[in-house]
Amino acid sequence: MDDVTKGPLILAAHAATVGAIAVRRALPQRQHRTVGAWCFADHLGPAAVARDRGLDIGPHPHIGLQTVTWLTTGEALHRDSLGSEQLIRPGQLNLMTAGRGVAHAEEATGQYAGRLEGIQLWVAQPDTTRQGPAAFEHHGSLPRIETSAYDATVLVGDFGGTSSPARHDTPLLGLELVVREPTTLPLRWDFEHAPIVLDGAIREGETTLVPGQIGIWELGRDEFAITPDGTTRVMMLGGVPFPETIIMWWNFVARTRDEISVAARSWRARDGRFAKVASALPVIEAPNVPWR
Ligand code: MN
Repeated sequence: MDDVTKGPLILAAHAATVGAIAVRRALPQRQHRTVGAWCFADHLGPAAVARDRGLDIGPHPHIGLQTVTWLTTGEALHRDSLGSEQLIRPGQLNLMTAGRGVAHAEEATGQYAGRLEGIQLWVAQPDTTRQGPAAFEHHGSLPRIETSAYDATVLVGDFGGTSSPARHDTPLLGLELVVREPTTLPLRWDFEHAPIVLDGAIREGETTLVPGQIGIWELGRDEFAITPDGTTRVMMLGGVPFPETIIMWWNFVARTRDEISVAARSWRARDGRFAKVASALPVIEAPNVPWR
C-alpha cells in the first residue's frame, strides 16, 4: 500500500454528565461531526453503581437515530416504549432504532452493585428509514475473532470474514478490540475510521491514542498497524462518510429545525407520538429549542 495517506485528526473528548454518571463525549466534534453514520459516542464511567442506583436516566425520547449500548464492566437495565425490558451485560449489545419516535429509560438493575463502564453510541438513520417504525434488538452474543495478538468482537458490520447480526441501515463498522501485541488490522478503504481507546493506549505511526481522545482516519486506507501499550481495549468505529447533512439537538437527529421543534412539542404534550415507558424514574423534559 502506498504511504500518501493523511495523518489522523486527534481530538479530545468533552467531559459531560449523563444521568448520574460522568462521560467522555468523543462525538460529535465541531471539526468532524460524524464517522460514517456514527454521530455520538459517550465513554461512560467507570463509576460505582448500587442495586437501586445506576445509570438513572429517566424516560426520554429519540428520533432519527439508533442507540448502541455496550458495557465493558457491570450491568444495566433498558426499558422502552415498545415494552422492551432488557438487562445488558458485557459482551452483549442493545440496539434501539428510534425511527419516527421512541422513548426509553436506562436504569439500575435491582441486583447488580459495583463498577459500571461502557460506551453508548448513536447512529444517524438515513432518509430511507428515519421516518420508519421504532424497533429494539438485544444480541446476547456476537461473532468473535481471536488471534494471538487480539480478540475482536463484531458489534455492527463485518470484520475478518464474519458479520454481526445487528441491524445497520448504512455501511458501518463497530468493533471492540482487546489488543495484546502489535498487529495489523484489515480496513475497508471506502470507510473512514475512528478508534476510541477505553483502557490502555495504542500507537499508530507517530500517533498515540489514550482514553479521553478520538482519532479520526479519513477513508482510503486498507490496513491499520497498531502497537498496544499493555493490554488495550479499543472501540473501533467506521463507515462510509454519511452523505446527508444532519441536525442534532438534545436527543433528536433530524434534517431541519422544524422537525426537531415538532418532536420536542410532542414530547412535552404527551400527544402519543412517543409512547410511555414503564419506568419509576422521573421523565426528562425537553429543554427549549435555541431558535424561534
Ligand atoms: Mn437515550
